[in-house]
Amino acid sequence: MKENRPQINPGRRAFVQSSAIGAVLGAKSILLGGAWGAEQATSSKVITQPDLRKGEVLRTQGELAEKQTVLRETERTIPVAGKSDVLVCGAGPAGIGAALAAARAGASVQLIEVAGCLGGVWTAGLLTKIIGGGNKSGIMEEILTALSERGSNVAKSTAGEVYDPEILKLLLEELCVEAGVRIQLHTRLVGTVTDGQKRIVAIITESKSGRQAWVADRYIDCSGDGDLAAQAGCNFEVGYDRNCECQPMSMMALLTGINTSEVSKYIRENGADAKARFYKLMQDSGINPSYRAPTLRHLHSGIYSLMTNHEYGVPATDAGAITEATIRSRKEVHEIVQGLRKLGKPWQDLAVVATAEQIGVREGRRIRGRYYITGDDLVSGLRHESAVCRTDFGFDVHNVFPDGSNPADVKHYRAAGVKSYDIPLPALMAADVDGLMMAGRCISGDFFAHSSYRVTGNAVPMGEAAGLTSAASLQNGVMPHELTWAEVQSYSREKKS
Ligand SMILES: Cc1cc2nc3c(=O)[nH]c(=O)nc-3n(C[C@H](O)[C@H](O)[C@H](O)COP(=O)(O)OP(=O)(O)OC[C@H]3O[C@@H](n4cnc5c(N)ncnc54)[C@H](O)[C@@H]3O)c2cc1C
Repeated sequence: MKENRPQINPGRRAFVQSSAIGAVLGAKSILLGGAWGAEQATSSKVITQPDLRKGEVLRTQGELAEKQTVLRETERTIPVAGKSDVLVCGAGPAGIGAALAAARAGASVQLIEVAGCLGGVWTAGLLTKIIGGGNKSGIMEEILTALSERGSNVAKSTAGEVYDPEILKLLLEELCVEAGVRIQLHTRLVGTVTDGQKRIVAIITESKSGRQAWVADRYIDCSGDGDLAAQAGCNFEVGYDRNCECQPMSMMALLTGINTSEVSKYIRENGADAKARFYKLMQDSGINPSYRAPTLRHLHSGIYSLMTNHEYGVPATDAGAITEATIRSRKEVHEIVQGLRKLGKPWQDLAVVATAEQIGVREGRRIRGRYYITGDDLVSGLRHESAVCRTDFGFDVHNVFPDGSNPADVKHYRAAGVKSYDIPLPALMAADVDGLMMAGRCISGDFFAHSSYRVTGNAVPMGEAAGLTSAASLQNGVMPHELTWAEVQSYSREKKS
């Protein structure tokens, strides 16, 4: 095999390998990729179903146009990688609820996730605290119980709400595998093909396996940012107003090297004023964190979690801006830890165990659904006949602007407060595309309502409702929006009996 390869000197080989990732342009264009690339380029074999084992690729052809400001891609045939009853995009708290519920209701389920683990902000984002899950039944209760049973004393004393992300990663994989969910990690949804009649034909992903299509009867967008629905042409909103001002992102971190008894007054679970104390300690030491309410949590045996960073004005859909925010925020976390170490005892051995692989995104697109939850709904304590869950978490708008200020109405809503309210099933149904549901932070609502319903203790029951409704709609030969929550539940009861 080796003898047949073209001879390349070592220096040249390095160049060829790095340039081979470039797209091979059309016939009139320059060919990138050196000798090995040339072998592929001149090959008469047109690959439509690449053999992934052999490293074959579905090649990209195209031509630069308009003074090299665009590249016109040549039409190509994409293999259909999988067919399922229900396809869930995004395996965060909402996607887990959706995939498990649909699979347990008897549907074949394909779960597509871009990260290398299940859990979204819970795990890849190193969150460590589940808010709003304590009053929920179903899958949320099941996860909290398992986290409490398997976790540390802290997990036990908080009924699973303060958890170890590694335990949760494993638990979610076990639950999904056991339920028969087909999982594909490291795979990003990049397109949705619609038929022009408010229906989705397929979604498109990109991964190491190249570009692939996936076909399903029902789709659930749990991508947090509403990627699937936006690609399907659904209407959506971003941020507070036309300027799309969003809540800041945050880089989470795990720390070690401190003794719990010596820093207990700074630990969030030990009192509401712990954050203010920790902030004062930082300020007195000349540290000015970008998040002025730093949160330190004790997870277990010398491991802590820290949230002390805010990245302002970063659009959730701009990869370049997210990259800059990631680099900036990771640097800030390390600088703060170094600053704390300089205080001497008990901080002198403080060290970063890990920063999150994914910076935590609080807000992306909110997809327009068949119900639009408003801040006023939360103030008046919305009751809805098709409520999938009831919740009471307050308006939690992290300062939108770097100077610590917020849009004017935030003050009004905070003062008015949240009365326990319902999340209506129609808020989980795309208004513009049939057979498409959403769950988690991308459901239909305004900026203020989103700041409350987005927490993970709500995302899971939303996902569970979307999964169950999708499965029930298939079983009954109707569209999800034609079902009430009572009908979905009675279907679920029948299945169980
Ligand atoms: C820093 C921070 C702190 C927070 N603190 C708390 C807290 O203490 N407690 C709490 O309960 N909530 C908290 N929240 C809110 C909560 O984490 C989110 O609102 C919640 O995770 C929403 O769940 P989700 O499943 O909708 O989205 P996510 O958790 O964002 O999950 C979305 C998933 O979709 C995947 N994905 C995205 N796009 C694609 C694509 N195109 N193709 C394939 N996969 C894709 C992502 O990788 C991710 O796994 C916090 C959020 C942040 C950012």
